[in-house]
Amino acid sequence: MRFASLQLNKQTVLIPEQLSPLQDPLLFHPISHYKSFPLQPINKSFKTDLQLLQVLQGKHLLIDEIPFPLCDIHAHYLNGFIHIEAGLQLKEGNLTCMRCGSKQAFSHFSCARCGEKDCRYCRNCIVMGKVSSCSPLYSASVPFQSKQPPFLLQWKGMLSSGQQEASRAVTHAIKKNEELLVWAVCGSGKTEVLFHGLEEALSQNKTICIATPRTDVVLELFPRLKKAFPSINLSALYGGSSKDTTQFVISTTHQLIRYKNFFDVMIIDEVDAFPYNVDSSLQYAVEKSRKKESSLIYLTATPSKTMIRNFHPIVRIPARFHGFPLPIPSLTWVGNWRKEIKKERLPPILIKWITQQVGDGKPVLLFLPSISLIEKVTPLMNKYVQCESVHSEDEDRVNKVIRFRNNQLPVLLSSTILERGITIPNVSVAVIGAEDDVFTESALVQIAGRAGRSKDFPDGSVRFFHYGKTNEMVSAVRLIKGMNREAEERGWLN
Ligand SMILES: [Zn+2]
Ligand SMILES: [Zn+2]
Repeated sequence: MRFASLQLNKQTVLIPEQLSPLQDPLLFHPISHYKSFPLQPINKSFKTDLQLLQVLQGKHLLIDEIPFPLCDIHAHYLNGFIHIEAGLQLKEGNLTCMRCGSKQAFSHFSCARCGEKDCRYCRNCIVMGKVSSCSPLYSASVPFQSKQPPFLLQWKGMLSSGQQEASRAVTHAIKKNEELLVWAVCGSGKTEVLFHGLEEALSQNKTICIATPRTDVVLELFPRLKKAFPSINLSALYGGSSKDTTQFVISTTHQLIRYKNFFDVMIIDEVDAFPYNVDSSLQYAVEKSRKKESSLIYLTATPSKTMIRNFHPIVRIPARFHGFPLPIPSLTWVGNWRKEIKKERLPPILIKWITQQVGDGKPVLLFLPSISLIEKVTPLMNKYVQCESVHSEDEDRVNKVIRFRNNQLPVLLSSTILERGITIPNVSVAVIGAEDDVFTESALVQIAGRAGRSKDFPDGSVRFFHYGKTNEMVSAVRLIKGMNREAEERGWLN
């Protein structure tokens, strides 16, 4: 879009070409031509369109994402209820996408909207709509208003001692708008740790976002939180789902690109998971979407070394909610297993362990380093036990996991895709080729964390089959033992 700048009641305002009485085409420029975008003073006598403000509340949207006529949107801008800024701006000399924060991935095109032959646009966030040199970004400048019923939290469960301590720290951080890292071992029940803090936030009318890099976590958390807070209007944002903003949002970190300066409480679950750990524009989106004065809480079972070193304060839950220690992985040398597989054989020691587990009626989850290895090993394994495999490119993945969970499939082979978030009662877990680079310390800790999660079967078997011990394997075992020791010392084990 092209805008002219003019003086109205001693204020500088921008007028889009479509709505302007001015004729001279030289007065109009793509919005990125302008350097500052002052907010207009609020005109209290202006009759606002609440539906329009509801759509824009807390958001940072392109004009095509706002289903209202331009003249209505512009009237709200002139009266101080909507803020406009250029989507691409120069920041410290670098062209910057204000929506996703990218400073590098730009291309240009011949643009019908502004008539420029080399209108630039951001490639980094193009899947969510094109932010170009002539795209304004719109946001609303009204605070969130909502009246909540008095009894919010309907969850009646008991917290373990470790959970209680973390729960107090979370509530404190939310009250004081502080930062906190909750380092909670796999199976400690970290979602429940949030409940009292969330209730506190809702009772203070705060806006809340639980963000996670992974869509399946959004889908898993939504029903649990809905059940705990049934009277709250909760929304789940992922993939293509676009909804009006509610006070409480569960979102993938990707979707936060469309928010600005809105959340009082920002909780990031699985902060160390891909792609959040490597994609700086997701970190930008989180920062942009929360208020300057807000709390920031990270949850993870496997924080990176940098996080542990630099973050303060950290609260640790070393014990599982059921009070049994974490299963310790055993390291088993299997020789040159890749060579065996080339000869269409599997190491006998591996087969022995698997058939033993299956004989004992335990489901077996096997992790392999790559999709190509999974495809080679699956038919070989099928000579001994019935098995199937899943990986990131497998469309039937969800069904296979369901069959495995329902005991219709004794053995499931997987890439690291299932290293987080899968819970199967009584499962035995193994890694084949644990020396491979994909099996970092945190991947191995997460994999081991699949075993023994249910209180009816708290001690699952975990094996790392390898052709040479790595530091990652050794430190994963050391970390798990350390957590058990800490839980024991604090009197949190049964
Ligand atoms: Zn962008
Ligand atoms: Zn353009």
